[in-house]
Amino acid sequence: MLIIPHTLSLITTYRCTAACDHCCFGCSPQAPEGIPASRMRSYIEQAAEIHSVKVVVFTGGECFLLGRELDELVKTAADHKFVTRFVSNGYWATSLPAARRRLKTLHECGLREANFSTGEQHARYIRPEYVRNGAIAAAELGMASLVAVDAFGDSVFDFDAFIDNAEFQKHVDAGTIVLKVSPWMRFRGERRLAYTKQYLQKMEQHRSFGVGCATLLKVLAVNPAEELGICCGLTLEQIPEMKIGSLREHSIRELLAQAPDDFVKIWIYLQGPDAVLRYARQLDPSISIPRQQAHTCEVCRYVYGNPRIREAVMRQPPENMRDLITQYVQGLAMPLGEVDSKFAARVVRGGGDVKQLKQLHRETRFKCQCV
Ligand code: SF4
Ligand code: SF4
Repeated sequence: MLIIPHTLSLITTYRCTAACDHCCFGCSPQAPEGIPASRMRSYIEQAAEIHSVKVVVFTGGECFLLGRELDELVKTAADHKFVTRFVSNGYWATSLPAARRRLKTLHECGLREANFSTGEQHARYIRPEYVRNGAIAAAELGMASLVAVDAFGDSVFDFDAFIDNAEFQKHVDAGTIVLKVSPWMRFRGERRLAYTKQYLQKMEQHRSFGVGCATLLKVLAVNPAEELGICCGLTLEQIPEMKIGSLREHSIRELLAQAPDDFVKIWIYLQGPDAVLRYARQLDPSISIPRQQAHTCEVCRYVYGNPRIREAVMRQPPENMRDLITQYVQGLAMPLGEVDSKFAARVVRGGGDVKQLKQLHRETRFKCQCV
C-alpha cells in the first residue's frame, strides 16, 4: 500500500508521572522503560531518509522522564531539519521560571512545538497551573503552544479557574496558546465515563461532515515495543490492523513497502470511520450503532473490533470505491508544502475564544452551569 507519511511520532515510553484512569496506553510510574535512546536516534535518522516526513513528535507516557536525553534527541531531529514537538502532562513546569528554564534549553536544541494535556484525570496527579506555566513559557519562546483539556460528563475539572489567569488568557486571546477541549475516552479504566447529550450531538455532527482522519497513513507511530503504527490514534494498541510490523526486525522504509492494501483505511483517511459504519449498516441493519461515542477513535475501534462491519464492506464495496482510491492516490502526488512551527496550532485552530471555550466545556458536563 502506498503510504506517504508526514510525521514520525515516538511513543518514547509508557512510564508516566501520572496514572490517569482510562489513560489510552495504561501508563503509570511502574511501567517499564521505553525505547532505548540509541534506537530512537536510529528511527529519526531513518525518517530523514523518507523525504515526506517533516515532523518528529516525542510523546509517551511522559517524554520528559528522558531528562537531558530528550534535549539530545530533539537536537538530532532538528539537525535533520525536522519540526519537533513534545506532548507532556507538564509535571516539570512547577513554576513559570522553572518552565522557562526547562524550555529554553529545549528551544535552543531546536524544539518548535509544545503540546500539553490536562483535565480532571490529569489534575489528580499534576496541578493544572503547571500546564499553564509550561504553555505560557512555550508561547513566550515563540513555539506553537497547545493545551488539550479532557472532557466528560462527570468531570469536576474547574475549567474556568484554569483559564482565569491574565497571562494565560492574553496568550489564548492572541492565538499564541491554542486551547482544545476533547473527549476523555473510555479505555480499561475503572470509572464509568459518559458524555452529555449536547456534547455527543456536537461531536456526532462534526463527524457526520465526512471529515477524514488526518493522521491515518500520515503519522508513523513507534510504540515502546518498537512496533510501527500508521496512525497516532489513542486506540493504537487496541486495533492490531493499525500496526504494520516490528522495527526490531525491519526498517521503517521496509515496513512501509510491505504494508498490505486496505481500502477501509483509505476510506477512513478520506471520510472518517463513521462513513464506513453508516455504509455497513445499510448493507446489514443488524449491525448496531455504538452508544455514547464521542471521540472519532472510539468509532474507529468499533469498526475494527466488529468483523461484520469490514466483512460487509469488503463483500460489497461502495460504488465509489475506485473514486475514493483515485482521490487518495492523487492526494499523495500533491506537495505537502512547508511545515512551519505553527503547524500544530493551525491544524486545531478554530476552538474559539475564551468565552466560547468556557461555554463548550460547560456543555460537556452533566450538571450544566449555563446561565
Ligand atoms: S498524563 Fe497522559 S500518559 Fe500519563 S497517565 Fe495520564 S493520560 Fe496517560
Ligand atoms: S480514527 Fe482510527 S485511524 Fe484515525 S487516529 Fe483514530 S484510531 Fe487511528
